[in-house]
Amino acid sequence: MKLYIVATPIGNLEDISFRAIRILKEVNFILCEDTRVTRILLDRHEIKTPTISYFQHSGMAKVNQIIDLLKQGKDLALVSDAGTPGISDPGNKLIELVLQEIPELKIEPIPGACAAISALSISGLPTDKFVFYGFLPHKKGKETILKEIINNKFTSVFYESTHRILKTLNKLKELGLGDKQVVVCRELTKKFETIYRGNIEEVLNKLEKDVTKGEFVVVIG
Ligand code: SAM
Repeated sequence: MKLYIVATPIGNLEDISFRAIRILKEVNFILCEDTRVTRILLDRHEIKTPTISYFQHSGMAKVNQIIDLLKQGKDLALVSDAGTPGISDPGNKLIELVLQEIPELKIEPIPGACAAISALSISGLPTDKFVFYGFLPHKKGKETILKEIINNKFTSVFYESTHRILKTLNKLKELGLGDKQVVVCRELTKKFETIYRGNIEEVLNKLEKDVTKGEFVVVIG
């Protein structure tokens, strides 16, 4: 009876450890955020383990099914659509609920890709202390968080979507980000990976001329 929390690639399907592949092959079931997304990875690595879907809005019936499987002695692996489960995607809640029922459960991390850490690693900005904001709120509270980022003495990191990237960066400029160093990482590890560096003005100039499709991590010095 074990629950493995397995990191999967954030784009490039080669970014997965030997151990992650072995564990995914050995467990009885793989819990996936979206089985269709995970299927691409499983097919690529010839992993035939059956999958069970577990996503943000899965109800208690699904959680209980998972708890039952663990109580029967099954080994399970939890993966999300990309990167490290629980980092701005479902996972933590499941762990909390499962531990309430089975406090002695062994939960093991199988580390690997994480978009925020990948972005920090190439940022060239101080990483001894940083604040991770995950996804910023869409409306209520967004301005407060943006002001906090502007005044942060530590490096700030957050996730942003295609639809909001320009709006959020423009708002940071308007609120007075000034000359702080900004690193915008688009489509990390994928074909159209692009890194935009500079102050907010320079980064916005580059981004506005470019395609703003894709997934983004923003790092601010
Ligand atoms: N658990 C994931 C991790 O460990 O990074 C994060 C999942 S979160 C639902 C998805 C967000 O992460 C995207 O909207 C984007 O902001 C960021 N992200 C994921 N993959 C990315 C990539 N290849 N390049 C840039 N950002 C990425």
